[in-house]
Amino acid sequence: MLIKNGWVLTTRLEKKDVAVDGTTITEVGTSLSGSDVIDASNHLVLPGLVNTHTHLAMTLLRGYADDVPLTEWLRDYIWPREMNLTPEDCYYGNLLGSVEMIKSGTTCFHDMYFYPDQAVKAVKESGMRAVISYPLAEFGNPERAGHMLQAGLQFMDTLRTESRIDTSFGPHSPSTCSPEYLLKVQDHAQKLSKLVHIHLHESKDWVENFSKAHEKPPIEFLESSGFLKNNVCAAHVVHATDKELDILKTHGVKVLHCPSSNLKLANGIAPVASMIKKGICVALGTDGAASNNTLDLFAEMRLMTLLQKLNDPSAMTSRAAVKIATENGGTALKWKIGRIEEGFLADIILIDLRNPCMTPRHDVLSNVVYAANSSAVDTVIIDGEVIMENRVLKTLHEEDIVEKAREHAYDLVNR
Ligand SMILES: [Zn+2]
Repeated sequence: MLIKNGWVLTTRLEKKDVAVDGTTITEVGTSLSGSDVIDASNHLVLPGLVNTHTHLAMTLLRGYADDVPLTEWLRDYIWPREMNLTPEDCYYGNLLGSVEMIKSGTTCFHDMYFYPDQAVKAVKESGMRAVISYPLAEFGNPERAGHMLQAGLQFMDTLRTESRIDTSFGPHSPSTCSPEYLLKVQDHAQKLSKLVHIHLHESKDWVENFSKAHEKPPIEFLESSGFLKNNVCAAHVVHATDKELDILKTHGVKVLHCPSSNLKLANGIAPVASMIKKGICVALGTDGAASNNTLDLFAEMRLMTLLQKLNDPSAMTSRAAVKIATENGGTALKWKIGRIEEGFLADIILIDLRNPCMTPRHDVLSNVVYAANSSAVDTVIIDGEVIMENRVLKTLHEEDIVEKAREHAYDLVNR
């Protein structure tokens, strides 16, 4: 495949050709020749966006419970519905979320939810790239949690030869998993070279309650227990002191920042600019569509950048925001994605520069962060395959999926 004559974001924006052989970018240059040519002369060629924290099947609960705090939201709305989830619900929730993500330029995601086999099934059909976490929670029942961990190990084993799918351990949070259980999970993760995907420092109440119960704030506690390592992907980290951020940096913990969900559940604003200054790898996520309520990373990039500018307009540039949504996602998830560069996997999106939101072009990256919406995403390529062309999905039947997902969503909340 040859993506010809597009505006390519390398060290700067310039007109280039991008050659792809199989799944990989083989050359970025000028006057390249090749077959399967895609004319990108009116397009910006960007790495696909990476959604590093979501619960994709929760797309079925989009708009189901707004305007309540986290604890009430979970206890009164989300958990009762999740008790009645079926694998088929999750399958259609995953497909619905995949349609939305592809159409808004996301090429790779990191999921944590019930029935992870259904996420795998959807990923195989959609052609997306994903890291699927096996969800783990103890809830004071170590025997059951032990069985879950064994099932997780089996799940990972069955997927070890998949090329576009990786797996990770998904212990829900330090409040639903004991320190001993977390260490056991981390031990397996180290042996298998897998990520550990966990919610951390999401609400202020939670941090305070944990600190009282364990006589140390969670991040300090997890450090002293030996849990924090560079394979830990911590979603949220809204409330963290300078000292706690230093701890995360020391151990190479990745932060999965979900600004919309944090605001919607009144959890606050994560100190992303400070994290970046300290050299922490921050990547972007939407969280589930039940607490966002979209999976559109353009909206998330814009919100993230604006929130960091509360007191300092120079706190985050457009270029830094794009890096967080692309390259840092690749670093956090350990895929060689997020850059248009020789040797990187060919996860590429073409943005139509003729779209009104991309016009005029005083600063194209500024348009991407502050003005663009998903309607500007014209073509999506994942692992060297065209998944969407002229905004038409090639792997999924959008109309059927929307219809089936709507049926399952109504059925789920009335079951
Ligand atoms: Zn979450």
